[in-house]
Amino acid sequence: MIKFLDLKNQYLNLKPEIDAAIAAVIDDASFVNGPPVGQFEAAFAATLGIEHCVGVANGTDAIEIALEALNLPPSSEVVTAANSFIASAESITRAGHRVVFADVDSGTYTLDPVDVERRLTPRTKAILAVHLYGHPADMTALRILAGRHGLRLIEDAAQAHGALFDGLSVGRLGDVGTFSFYPGKNLGAYGDAGAIVTQDQALATRCRMIANHGRVDKYNHEFEGRNSRLDTLQAAILNAKLPCLEQWVRRRNEVARMYLDQLRGVGDLILPVVDIRARHAFHLFVVRTERRDDLAAHLRSSGVEVGIHYPIALPRLRAYAYLGPGTECKIADSFAARVLSLPMGEHLADADVAMVCDAIRQFPW
Ligand SMILES: *Cc1c(COP(=O)(O)O)cnc(C)c1O
Repeated sequence: MIKFLDLKNQYLNLKPEIDAAIAAVIDDASFVNGPPVGQFEAAFAATLGIEHCVGVANGTDAIEIALEALNLPPSSEVVTAANSFIASAESITRAGHRVVFADVDSGTYTLDPVDVERRLTPRTKAILAVHLYGHPADMTALRILAGRHGLRLIEDAAQAHGALFDGLSVGRLGDVGTFSFYPGKNLGAYGDAGAIVTQDQALATRCRMIANHGRVDKYNHEFEGRNSRLDTLQAAILNAKLPCLEQWVRRRNEVARMYLDQLRGVGDLILPVVDIRARHAFHLFVVRTERRDDLAAHLRSSGVEVGIHYPIALPRLRAYAYLGPGTECKIADSFAARVLSLPMGEHLADADVAMVCDAIRQFPW
């Protein structure tokens, strides 16, 4: 059986470090905002080469809090990708704004700047780019667009720990970036966790206060915030795992290279494209085929775990029926029936990748 993801294996490889980190938090009994939280924020910021990092409870809150901290006028339109996990769009609505979906590029699966421009109105105040599957969006084009129209630029980097664009980490290419440490992400906690990163000190402070009851100090609250702090136990676990991130992302790229070499020209497969300006973080390795459901069934019966990200484009979800007509995104809509995610992660040996590729070649194309 070739696993899609293997968190148990990852834990066993780091067991002494992780067990010690957890024991230290319990021993110290500083369960909320204990020392590991600040340590992780500083270490993650340094790893990414970004000035400020604010730990929060999860990646969805990270987007919502970042949007709130930007102080956009209520009910502003925020343009985001039609092909993503619902959290990207949901947090726009939760922050009191309006979701506007734009289509994505058929090569990189990220926001198409030309379609974004088509969806702008006088009410548009921000663009929320998603570095989907770990591939950075075209931040050069989006930054030019944002500059020209006076828009704020937010990066949902929940799937892109380790990705670079023009040599810079995702999360420092716009005004503010957000990460998720959901267990299955490239860097995952043992529960929910997230972070906001930015070069803007005032924005970081506002995010930190929103996430901690609008606090100045213990019983002095400047405004009404909320409770969305990074849990100390999760921070301790992330501290133990962070030193491995770079080698894990490198291995993901090696696995991707093997897939690309071994699957070229097989059936009608469309393989992922990497922009020459980008380092892909390969959170997911997604192929497209007209025969997706049959291939998925064949792989599952051959002992290969696969996933579908995502089976329904966001504008087609019941949750977004309220947006009414005009949400058509031709490319994103066409992906739902065709995308297939192959096993990806540092847990895969070269032989595992070869077995997946063999199974794909054996499919009666
Ligand atoms: C995982 C994910 C999120 C949300 O993160 P959570 O920590 O699960 O709240 C947001 N956006 C994208 C693209 C994601 O994949």
